[in-house]
Amino acid sequence: MSPSAESADFRPRVPQIPGRPLDVAWIHGSVSSKHNTDPDIQVHWYDEHSVILRQNMAIDYEAPFLYLLFGDARAVLLDTGATQSAGFFPLRTTIDDLMDEWLALHPRDDYELEVLHTHSHDDHVAGDGQLVGRPATTVVPASRAEAYDYLQLTADLDQLARLDLGVRVLDCIAGPGHDDAAVTFYDSLTGWLLTGDTVYPGRLYVRDWPAYVATLDRLVAFAETHPVSQVLGCHIEMTTTPGVDYPVRTVYQPDEAPLEMSVEQLRDVRRAAHEIGDRPGRYVYPDFVIQHLGTDSYG
Ligand SMILES: [Zn+2]
Ligand SMILES: [Zn+2]
Repeated sequence: MSPSAESADFRPRVPQIPGRPLDVAWIHGSVSSKHNTDPDIQVHWYDEHSVILRQNMAIDYEAPFLYLLFGDARAVLLDTGATQSAGFFPLRTTIDDLMDEWLALHPRDDYELEVLHTHSHDDHVAGDGQLVGRPATTVVPASRAEAYDYLQLTADLDQLARLDLGVRVLDCIAGPGHDDAAVTFYDSLTGWLLTGDTVYPGRLYVRDWPAYVATLDRLVAFAETHPVSQVLGCHIEMTTTPGVDYPVRTVYQPDEAPLEMSVEQLRDVRRAAHEIGDRPGRYVYPDFVIQHLGTDSYG
């Protein structure tokens, strides 16, 4: 297949309407985890090159979201979930099936998979081991040193890096604060700003306050100069009632808020952080809660 024919898969499409809903009902746990009948991993094809996955809350209450984005030359999986065991959490077979499904429609030789992370916390990297050793797959360790080095993010955190999937290129934005190793990814094909645990509808735990505020400034500045359709994090902890979150370890969230947030809500998080200042505590806002963990947790 010629390069131009391959690239035709990625011809410009109708621009996304900013803030349109993802149009999906997420699995959200059940009264009894033992009797849960949902899939272990929910798969949502947002478009023919973009998949959002959610881990079942009955397997781990964190129920993180993962993102699989297909480019012309390779795909990237962002995060690997909260559970190591393939028996409980069949990430490898799910990804194999999705890669096969995409390749059946878009045949290519030597198609690769890169596994990267929004940050290094256990509930985002636990499934790495299932993908290590997979053919044509690079699993990049989530530590700050290794992840930043791979992406070519430097000590100048305001400098963006680019992750080239072939035609589809992601911008990588350094984002420490929640976690030292955090990275936000921007995908111009969907307009998604993938913020990991830095910004999502839930409890935003901040370990390094000055770094977090600088990251929010960076993300808002980015969103003001790039078309962002959705701000997508990795968890949902807010209910649909403003200012009310589900307690930690909740395994049934029938009234959870939507995953997607708007650029306006991203600005709200930044405004809130500046308003709070460097004072440890729990600060409740309608669409999120900021938990400033204090200097003891700086590391
Ligand atoms: Zn985290
Ligand atoms: Zn998390």
